Amino acid sequence: MPELPEVENTRISLLPVKNSKIINIYSDGKKLRQDIPTNLQEIVGSTVLDIGRIAKYLLFHLSNQKTIISHLGMSGKFVYSNNEDVAKHDHVILYFDGGYNLKYNDPRRFGVFLLEDTFALKDKYFSNVAMDAIENGFTAEYLLNRLNKISSNIKNTLLNQEIVAGIGNIYASEALFAAKISPLRAANSLNITEAEVLVATIKEILNRSIKLGGSTLKDYRKANGESGDFQNHFLVYSKENQPCQHEGCKGTITKITQNGRSTFYCPLSQR
Ligand SMILES: [Zn+2]
Repeated sequence: MPELPEVENTRISLLPVKNSKIINIYSDGKKLRQDIPTNLQEIVGSTVLDIGRIAKYLLFHLSNQKTIISHLGMSGKFVYSNNEDVAKHDHVILYFDGGYNLKYNDPRRFGVFLLEDTFALKDKYFSNVAMDAIENGFTAEYLLNRLNKISSNIKNTLLNQEIVAGIGNIYASEALFAAKISPLRAANSLNITEAEVLVATIKEILNRSIKLGGSTLKDYRKANGESGDFQNHFLVYSKENQPCQHEGCKGTITKITQNGRSTFYCPLSQR
C-alpha cells in the first residue's frame, strides 16, 4: 500500500499536469472504494491549477472551483503520457489539450476518485485529519499532547491518521527502530526526550524516502512510470531473523503482528 513518501512522490510526478486544460474525460463506471462520480463531465473545460495532498489523498484543484480527490488505495496509480491506448484497469482518463492524458489505473479498486466543491473539502473529508508528519508543526510537544491519553501501543497509535497523518505500516516500524523505542510500549508512556527523538526520526525517514522516490513494493509507480528506491534502505521492515543494525547490539529482528499488521523490531535495543 502506498504510504506518504509514495503519495508525495506521485504528487511531485503529477506536477507537469499543472495548467493543462481538460478537454475530455472517460470513465468505465466501475465501482472503486466508492462509485466514480457520474458528474465528471462538469470538469471538461476546466484547468488543473495545482496538485495538493492531505495525508494520503491527492487533490487536483481545478479552475471551476472543483477538486478531484484521489486515494491510491492498495494498488492505484496514475499514468501521465501521450499514449492513447486504454489498458485493463484504466478506470478514469482525463484528456488534456496538447495531446497528453492522465489515466487512473487500479486493479484492486480500493482507491478513491471523487469530485467535490473546493470550498467544502476540509469540512466534508478532512476535518479529522491530524497534522501531517512532514509539516513543521509536527513537533515532540504536539505528539506528546496527542499521546497523553492513549494507553494502546505506540506502533498502532502512529498509524492512526487522527493522531498524525501520513505514517504507514513500513515507516512506523522503521521510525521506532531508529528511535530505539519498542513498538509494544504504551503510547502515553513516552517522555519528552523519546518524543523528540521519534519525531526527528519520523521526519528524517519520510524525507529520505521522498528523496529516494518512495518504496517500490508491488504496484507502486510514479506517474512517469519510475519506481522508488527506499525499499533497498529498510533497516528492519521485512528483515525478520536478520541481525540488528544498531551498533553493538547482538539482537535479532523479530516479526510480530499488531492489529493485523506486521511489525518488525529488535527486542534488545528497542525499549
Ligand atoms: Zn538491536
